[in-house]
Amino acid sequence: MANVPQRIFKKGLAAFAAATVALTLFILKDLRVQEPAGTASGDKVNCSSMGDAANHPLPIADAHFHILPWMTPAELCRLMRENGIKWIGGGGQMQPDGFINRYRKVFGERWRVFGGQREHLAEIPQQHGVNALEDAEHPAMRQLVATLESDLKSGRYKGIGELLVNTRTSATRPDWRRKIRADSPGVKALLNLAAKYGLPVSIHAQWDNDTAEQMNRLAESNRNGVIFLAHCGTDASADQIRDFLSKNLNVYCDMSSRYDRSKAAGRTVYSAGWLEPSWKKLIEAMADRFTAGIDDVFSEAEYLHTVKAVREGLLANLSPEAAKKVAYENADRLFRISK
Ligand SMILES: [Zn+2]
Repeated sequence: MANVPQRIFKKGLAAFAAATVALTLFILKDLRVQEPAGTASGDKVNCSSMGDAANHPLPIADAHFHILPWMTPAELCRLMRENGIKWIGGGGQMQPDGFINRYRKVFGERWRVFGGQREHLAEIPQQHGVNALEDAEHPAMRQLVATLESDLKSGRYKGIGELLVNTRTSATRPDWRRKIRADSPGVKALLNLAAKYGLPVSIHAQWDNDTAEQMNRLAESNRNGVIFLAHCGTDASADQIRDFLSKNLNVYCDMSSRYDRSKAAGRTVYSAGWLEPSWKKLIEAMADRFTAGIDDVFSEAEYLHTVKAVREGLLANLSPEAAKKVAYENADRLFRISK
């Protein structure tokens, strides 16, 4: 048995060791949090297996998602695992190709990223004005079609978009708010290109009367072109969407961002614990036509809030059959995810 000074020394040593471990863990944790997206350790994970979500009672195919720089690949992978997210995609990216390539290495085919959003949303309007987007013969649009064609052919992109045809009051940045003709030759050229490769186009269209009519004409113009209506018309009512989906069998409705993130009238149709009754009725009646998504979120807290709204608002208020279709079955089919 140790004498008193030795016991005190041993106790002190143990306390010192514990403090050192705690401090090291704290520093490592702190480094992890502060590590800028782009450093190597966040990239070393392999997150390409959709099997990660297989044990979840209701996996979600996140069919409208934009990866943002606040999340390292490792952090995004953890969030997906913890929240039963089967795969991500259906959204475009604003970042340079290098950013996209980093995430592609980690997520592989589990990330079904779309092409053309950076050019369509920012580069072409900034350099040539927003009206250039309506003109299929504009050199910048011809260039976009050519670039996208090679990227769709190679499998680099799994669709086109998100194209913003009417974001009059619904884009996160003021310079991204615009209204162009949805049935203009420029938009049709992109729909036709996607149709040629059997891939979908995501279109963000606030549901003004004229935009709704143009969207009808766009959908009619190429029945082989699959349109993913981003945020299901953003501020469209359930009746308006029922009418649009009934007339156009080549359109699918993406329910991302229709939860309580916006205070604007008509946009919020679900939140944790609640699904607006007219939407519940519509989704049940046309359950093969709806998908779910997380869209753009700016913090981990917002990511978790969004998943909760999707799970406990949108999905929990549907019948189990409809919930399964909206959660992943429809998106799996449309994005050709093999079982
Ligand atoms: Zn989006």
